[in-house]
Amino acid sequence: MIEIKDDPVLLTKKLIGFKSITPDDDGSIDYIASIVEQLGFKSNIFSTQGVKNLFARWSPKTDFKRTLAFNGHVDVVPPGEENLWASNPFSGEIKEGRIFGRGSVDMKSSVAAFLVALNEVITQEELCCSFVLLITSDEEGNAEYGTKELLKWAAKNDEIITDCIVGEPTSSKLVGDTIKIGRRGSLSGYIVCKGKQGHIAYPEKAVNPVEELINFLRKLKSLKLDAGSKFFDPSSLNISTVDTNNKALNVIPEESFASFNVRFNDKHSCSSLIKKINKTISEFNKGSSATVEIKYKCSGESFVTEPGQLSDLLITSIKETTDIDCKFSTGGGTSDARFIREHCPVVEFGLVGETMHQVNENTRVEDIILLKEIYKKFLKNYNKKDRK
Ligand SMILES: [Zn+2]
Repeated sequence: MIEIKDDPVLLTKKLIGFKSITPDDDGSIDYIASIVEQLGFKSNIFSTQGVKNLFARWSPKTDFKRTLAFNGHVDVVPPGEENLWASNPFSGEIKEGRIFGRGSVDMKSSVAAFLVALNEVITQEELCCSFVLLITSDEEGNAEYGTKELLKWAAKNDEIITDCIVGEPTSSKLVGDTIKIGRRGSLSGYIVCKGKQGHIAYPEKAVNPVEELINFLRKLKSLKLDAGSKFFDPSSLNISTVDTNNKALNVIPEESFASFNVRFNDKHSCSSLIKKINKTISEFNKGSSATVEIKYKCSGESFVTEPGQLSDLLITSIKETTDIDCKFSTGGGTSDARFIREHCPVVEFGLVGETMHQVNENTRVEDIILLKEIYKKFLKNYNKKDRK
């Protein structure tokens, strides 16, 4: 009889069944630990601020030179209005060759594919490298107590990692057509524009913070950032909210508010952008009767792992399995790779991201099997390098 741990589709279905909405892992971390212990992994589960994380290592009997880590998350975003779903979002229903459920794409399927790939190489191959699993249930939220804590734990316990693959969905149309070698950074700003309250019929006696804010936003939007770089598209600054909270139509309010976000490439950092924007603020404040202030939040710096051994090996493994020539990307939102890149080379590779975070999130069953095959090929190639 086929066991769940031998079948990436059954394992995906099993993992979807855990209602692991960030940061609650709903027992999925213990379940994964029990599977990998059967494969000979030594697992350590620890909690920080209620977030459960799993660090597990498998080592060959002989000395090893390198350790490949896989990083993934079992937490999912909430399903939203459940009756909008065709089936229960935690059922993992399989219909017409697709598996449905929250996390089917992002990213329980990828965790399942990697675990089964590991299972197969450990039982079938002669291995001389070590494997580490960094599994968290805090990626979709603030990500404060997830991968960051796992890396801290690893450093404290002298657990060395040579390379890391993050299983986030990165493919565009076909599994293997795109891997991510970096990510843009993200900086948000919350603007307060202070004016002077007054009667709307006597604007000369007031300072209108709404109109002044509009002027400021125009300046902000016209900031020249860059024209893109070797691996990145141009950075972009976008306004996300504009508010006054003003209920009275005959009053010029005292304050107005707006927020924006910058997705930036490797030509900037949060601090260089803040400096640039602050310069715009001081110029604006000099020429205006209103005063603009901004509070910033840096959610991640941009980074890139220059193409090298790790990405080459992944590209070769994809080509050997699917015959696809895969391309590099640095697009999309942030991911836990932003923490890992401070420790070792990291690339991201997973399924087609089409329906992630959507109602009726789903993926092709065949894609999960294919992803498992590519991971397996990659693990074999990674091992081969050390055997030479
Ligand atoms: Zn994800």
